[in-house]
Amino acid sequence: MLNFTVGPVMSSEEVCAIGAEQVPYFRTAEFSAVMFENEKYMIEYTKAPEGSRAVFMTCSSTGSMEAVVMNCFSKDDKVLVINGGSFGHRFVELCEIHKIPYVALELEYGKKLSKERLYEYDNKGFTGLLVNVDETSTAVLYDTMMIGEFCKKNNIFYVCDCVSSFLADPYNMAECGADVMITGSQKVLACPPGISIIVLAPKGLERVANSKVRTMYFDLKNALKNQERGQTPFTPAVGILLQINERLKEIARNGGADAEVARIAAQAEDFRRKILELPFVFVSESPANGVTSIHPTTANAYDIFLTLKDEYGIWICPNGGNMKDIILRVGHIGALTHEDNTTLINALKDMQKRGLI
Ligand SMILES: *Cc1c(COP(=O)(O)O)cnc(C)c1O
Repeated sequence: MLNFTVGPVMSSEEVCAIGAEQVPYFRTAEFSAVMFENEKYMIEYTKAPEGSRAVFMTCSSTGSMEAVVMNCFSKDDKVLVINGGSFGHRFVELCEIHKIPYVALELEYGKKLSKERLYEYDNKGFTGLLVNVDETSTAVLYDTMMIGEFCKKNNIFYVCDCVSSFLADPYNMAECGADVMITGSQKVLACPPGISIIVLAPKGLERVANSKVRTMYFDLKNALKNQERGQTPFTPAVGILLQINERLKEIARNGGADAEVARIAAQAEDFRRKILELPFVFVSESPANGVTSIHPTTANAYDIFLTLKDEYGIWICPNGGNMKDIILRVGHIGALTHEDNTTLINALKDMQKRGLI
């Protein structure tokens, strides 16, 4: 299998080897030490400010998106949601479900967020902002520094969904002033799905501490209290947390977060150069490093996905909803190489010879 989707992605051999082992009991000092180390690396790699904390939730990242909306906002807030695709829309739905007052800043698919558009909402009494830093459905990357400045000026609580951008695009939580960031195990962390991670800067911790949220599983106060002893309130996905530990150390051995970002940027650049020979056009006005969204000009997008999967053993990412037939996404995250890009391009060239694209 050769997997170019945006999650789950290809894992390293070391990470796969841990997945083949027995899963240990976890209420132990040994497991707590792993969890402390995971937290330390997460704070380091997100460049979170002094006093930040990280918690590990056993759920997909949508669970953490929901936990953050529930624990950090209430009916007294007014939240601006940047909605440029299906992940932005997910935040809109979460605000609806939890009755958080919000306004959606709607962007056309593939369009970046300009300063002009954002500042239409300046001095309008917003107290929170939700953004998917890489809107993975269209591969548009938003400018976290520009948004951070806006939030600072308006005293807005700033939440970054970095699920697919963490370790793929440059991110500095302290510099951009984000109060919360969210990511997940199956994107650039290149582990199986099942764990998502929430990093909270001091203002985020304060919001959680003062929250009156009613939930058992998504109570971040409880998660933070347990992480103080390297534990979780309930049985976590122990095996995946051990794989994450291996992966975080692997990134450290390879030069840290910036080196991983550079590796993925180079992987994306290599693909974008090679695909120019084929009948596709780029969709994103502001491409993220983790994924390239392309529009086939001579064939149906979903048919290309199926043929690559069924006849070549290569997975790329189809899109959902009204983008299904027109947009494909090729991921650059996980254990992929430039040679893998060539394999994909050769398969597409073969399809072209066969008249399929
Ligand atoms: C993958 C992703 C998520 C979370 O998806 P899950 O299926 O819940 O893991 C959220 N936001 C973005 C931007 C993503 O890319």
